[in-house]
Amino acid sequence: MGAFQLVHDIDEFAGMLGRALNLNYNRHMPSESLLKAASQRIPALASRKDIAHLMHVARRYAHQSVMTLTPPEDRRMVGLCPTCERELWCTDTEIAGQWIVCRCGETLKVTDVQEQHLLTCALAENENTQGTASAVSKLLLANGIKVRRQTIAQWKNRGILVPCGWDSGKPVYRVWAVWKCIVRNS
Ligand SMILES: [Zn+2]
Repeated sequence: MGAFQLVHDIDEFAGMLGRALNLNYNRHMPSESLLKAASQRIPALASRKDIAHLMHVARRYAHQSVMTLTPPEDRRMVGLCPTCERELWCTDTEIAGQWIVCRCGETLKVTDVQEQHLLTCALAENENTQGTASAVSKLLLANGIKVRRQTIAQWKNRGILVPCGWDSGKPVYRVWAVWKCIVRNS
């Protein structure tokens, strides 16, 4: 779910830098060009009052890009910390423990973080908000939520879960609707 959001956020950030530097740009200008132009005006950026904020945002995107392109094999991104907005990458053992501590010191319940993340994705209506039973199962696993494809099919057969559409004859489900079934059964 992260990649789509990340590209969007970086575009926003590039626009923010463009405005901060009064660069002559329009919104059709690719983010790469904007970021390159901004990188050639570091002294102008450094003298700004909000440089600390710009640096904070830039560091976060740099970190997120690395994590998105080369996700750590033994960790899953369960969601964002509500206090510091860091991505929370956890091992299965940490997820099974139900409570995690963010590097900012906040203690968080794993299911709360997961639910907030799925809700944000559902509201963003990006391409990862629905899919076939096996696609939804994979999407949820990326967030550290284990639900078998067969379980999703059973919920449909029992009338607990209603498909939102069809793809090549296979029922398509909303990730959020599947999450509601998981919570209902826990
Ligand atoms: Zn935090």
